[in-house]
Amino acid sequence: MSNWEAVIGLEIHVQLKTRTKMFCRCPNGFGGEPNTQTCPVCLAFPGALPVANRRAVEECIKLGLALDCEIAERAVFHRKNYFYPDLPKAYQISQYDEPLCARGKLAVPTENGDITVGITRAHLEEDAAKNVHVAASGRIHGATATLVDFNRGGTPLVEIVTEPDLHDAESAKRFLQLLRQTVVELDLSDAELEKGSMRFDVNVSVRPAGSDELRTRTELKNMNSFNFAAKGIEREIARQIRVYEQGGIVEQETLHFDPAHEESPPMRSKEEAQDYRYFPDPDLVPVHPPVDVVERLRGEIGELPGARIKRIADTLSFYDADVLVTGGLDRLWADVVAAGAEPKEAANVLANQFVATGIAPSAVNAAELAKLVSARAEIPRAAFDEALAKTGDAGFTAAPYLEQKVVGDAAELDPIIERIIDANPGQAEQFRGGKQGLLGFFVGQVMKETGGKADPRVVNERVREKLRA
Ligand code: ADP
Ligand code: MG
Ligand code: ZN
Repeated sequence: MSNWEAVIGLEIHVQLKTRTKMFCRCPNGFGGEPNTQTCPVCLAFPGALPVANRRAVEECIKLGLALDCEIAERAVFHRKNYFYPDLPKAYQISQYDEPLCARGKLAVPTENGDITVGITRAHLEEDAAKNVHVAASGRIHGATATLVDFNRGGTPLVEIVTEPDLHDAESAKRFLQLLRQTVVELDLSDAELEKGSMRFDVNVSVRPAGSDELRTRTELKNMNSFNFAAKGIEREIARQIRVYEQGGIVEQETLHFDPAHEESPPMRSKEEAQDYRYFPDPDLVPVHPPVDVVERLRGEIGELPGARIKRIADTLSFYDADVLVTGGLDRLWADVVAAGAEPKEAANVLANQFVATGIAPSAVNAAELAKLVSARAEIPRAAFDEALAKTGDAGFTAAPYLEQKVVGDAAELDPIIERIIDANPGQAEQFRGGKQGLLGFFVGQVMKETGGKADPRVVNERVREKLRA
């Protein structure tokens, strides 16, 4: 038992995929030629006036409802003042003490019950522009110049802040995966970590086990993978414990994890308590979400991923249910099972093989996939893999693949096996002398000879038997 307990709180930014930006009518979804999706508002020309994007407000409310938040009767946009080249107004429009959504929770199911994480707030803000450092490495260090692409400036962002309710890296990772899946299913964002449409910062501290004090935390920024985050958290917990056990104190600081991708205004420890001089943006009216709109949005939320994990874990193992749901595969799984496939077998194929194909589950004809799953043991592995890779094609049918049966009949395989053993007397001798590893050599030859159609289990068994003879 460790004498220390970790305390973890998360701040997550999600880019909304609205048609237009947060406060102007420029197209949202940067990626075009730099600085082509801009206007006087998002370039901060003097006198240009922002207007809040209704759709973005509704989407933030929807996410807030999914996170069990209270929706404010009045929400206010504030100016958060700081200077950085990617911020032309020298302030970001954000929300401060009157956010759209607050006091929610998200339950992360585990094998031993839920871990409930408090949601402090979910508010709306605008993204900054993108700085592009001109250097081979893409990093600011060693760059010869920095260019600014304002296409991203003004992209609607929802920031979600959690209470410091998490206590280990694995749970933090699962929380993030569940939140990501929630956002994706609500169709609010692609939430793609590699593209930066979901980004998160992790706050970590440790305290003596059993205490409820909150000690000084450090913040890990710019994480772009869940596994990376989990590793970073683990390392940081261990480091802080070492510091305390050696009689030191943990300094409040920001640790940049992947500077190659994104960067934040540089911060040193003391500047963390930066004064942003927040004040209400006088150019924007407060938002008063009408009750009927909130209720309509609530009605649009289907069964959420956490609930589905628990429901599916009644049929499958908790692990399988979790993988299917957080991978966005459980609806296809249910359809494949409804079409006649065995549940566990279907889960295995989807979670282990289908997921690697990168095919969109929605593109798949579940009935055809069910046929394939049910016949998996009878068709050659190569044919199965090929079929699986085509399940997303329009008009895909399993039939041609189902005809390719594996050869599992000893009478058919034995002569081939004998021929191969006769052709390789040296290896056969070595195998008999104890070099067990050569079994694979013979099995491989047989598989090759049969064009991959032999049942590997039967081949293994027969080869072993023949070599011993
Ligand atoms: P800011 O980053 O703007 O200073 P907060 O102080 O509200 O904002 O906290 C940001 C995040 O840090 C929240 O997710 C919160 O749960 C978490 N947090 C706050 N104190 C601690 C702590 N002592 N240990 C770990 N996480 C913490
Ligand atoms: Mg912070
Ligand atoms: Zn614009």
